[in-house]
Amino acid sequence: MPIRILDKKLISQIAAGEVVERPASVVKELVENALDAGAGQIAVEVRGGGTSLIRIMDNGNGIASDEVALAFERYATSKIGSVADLGSIATLGFRGEALPSIAAVAQIDILTSAAGEATGTYISVQEGKVSVRKSQARPRGTTITVRDLFRSVPARRKFLKSVSTENGHIANVVSQYALAYPGVSFALFLEGRKTLGTAGKGRLIDGIVEVYGVEIARHMLEIPENDEAQVKVTGMIGSPSVSRSGRNYLSFFINRRWVNSRLLAWAVQEAYHGLLPQRKHPVAVLAISLPPSEVDVNIHPTKSEVKFQYERQVFTAVQKAVRQTLIAQTPVPRIEEVAVGYSNPSQQVEIDWSSAAVNRGAVGQAFEVARPLTVALPVLRVLGQLMSSYVVAEGPDGLYLIDQHAAHERVVFEQVREQRSKGEIEVQGLLEPVPFEITPLQETILKSHHQELVDFGFSLEPFGDRTYLVRSVPQALSGGDWTGALRELLDSDGGADDWAEKIAISVACHSGAVRAGQSLSDEEMRALVRQLEKTVMPHTCPHGRPTLIHLSSSQLRREFGRG
Ligand code: ADP
Ligand code: MG
Repeated sequence: MPIRILDKKLISQIAAGEVVERPASVVKELVENALDAGAGQIAVEVRGGGTSLIRIMDNGNGIASDEVALAFERYATSKIGSVADLGSIATLGFRGEALPSIAAVAQIDILTSAAGEATGTYISVQEGKVSVRKSQARPRGTTITVRDLFRSVPARRKFLKSVSTENGHIANVVSQYALAYPGVSFALFLEGRKTLGTAGKGRLIDGIVEVYGVEIARHMLEIPENDEAQVKVTGMIGSPSVSRSGRNYLSFFINRRWVNSRLLAWAVQEAYHGLLPQRKHPVAVLAISLPPSEVDVNIHPTKSEVKFQYERQVFTAVQKAVRQTLIAQTPVPRIEEVAVGYSNPSQQVEIDWSSAAVNRGAVGQAFEVARPLTVALPVLRVLGQLMSSYVVAEGPDGLYLIDQHAAHERVVFEQVREQRSKGEIEVQGLLEPVPFEITPLQETILKSHHQELVDFGFSLEPFGDRTYLVRSVPQALSGGDWTGALRELLDSDGGADDWAEKIAISVACHSGAVRAGQSLSDEEMRALVRQLEKTVMPHTCPHGRPTLIHLSSSQLRREFGRG
């Protein structure tokens, strides 16, 4: 084929492909427009997974009658006017591409009424051209209806998934914006059924109840006031007891724009380090505000990724805010929470969440309880041992059951970590050097982390073919399984994890001094409890499992029917 310029219609369909990938992209663009128009109420209606119908109604500013047709021209926008404006964008839209892109791949009509105008305007756009235009009454705001999405673009239609999958993506978009804008009331109707509805009263927790349900909501912790340089982090994070197996429970809003960010996901993951079981992911809804001039939002056609001018600063601010919230607020699991969070689901305590009023009340209460609990353990008096595995102790407020093995892991973990940070690792020389054979893969990991292992007290010298001579190990492992610890470390992937933390965990886990099923003398139990009291985070073992369960005096009174 000779080179030639494509016809206009084809050009606009190609360009539309960048913005409108699937029905959820249309919903995202239209919801963003409604938010930019200052709407306090946004209703979204969807049929056929978005291919038959998408309708969005808002009560925002509307579009002036003489500008409505213009809004469908490519690069027509009311949001920026100069190159300088690009440097600090405060609106969600600015590229002037959404309406023309949608019009290129669907039938679209709009009914809008701007403040100060006597009547509204209706326009129907077919194949990118205005086909009907008339005056029509409407309260202030805009209704946009999109029909037959991708009918003219079979190539795109082919890649759509099932109606329920597309609806799932749409529900996610609306949910995310409902979380980002608690002050806006959202309603979503999928195939005629109301799927989501937020009150718009300005409280994030209401949105979390609606989007993630009561169970997660009652375990959310609020990030306290902080203002790290220019970066401010607000929102809520899940206590470690509500971890999830997928990463889909992380939401980030940069200056109220919903974005994907691997950098921030990593910052959150790091903050939870040592608090979550392996392969579990946290729940978090975080709004980050920073000067618009320090974020470039113009790096992605759908604006779903951004670039920070001071990446490190944002990373640190997020990690710190999350970590501090966790340290200050992680509650000792109480009996009810334990039943829900850690034990066999069939043994869950029954909780009556029947009415919405109860829901809200219960959520409020959970926070009341979670907040005042601090990190430190009170001084405990050891009463005895249960099943050779748990230490039973009394505190100022009731009974504590301590998992002796988990508690000991926490103690050793913190001791080793502290010794390492002071450069005072206690080392145990082996009576004679022990040859330690490793695989080629393990050898690459050993080579890249050799120094860290040495810093923790392992002495490993090359000794011929993939064999190393071990002359010393960390003192904490002397009665334990040091080969197990080394193998575990060398089998883990050598990724960017914090190796010092990883080594400390592995050493604690293989130190072996206190196991479950081992009877302890009173003296040993007292020593263990004293050591646990001194740790920074006594409530979880380094893997994130609880070290203790608290049964408060008031709970005991309640259980015994004493009021
Ligand atoms: P952008 O949002 O990037 O400006 P769009 O194509 O999404 O581009 O919209 C074009 C223009 O139409 C917007 O700049 C805005 O002025 C107007 N507009 C679109 N949707 C709405 C709405 N729901 N309410 C008020 N104005 C709107
Ligand atoms: Mg827009």
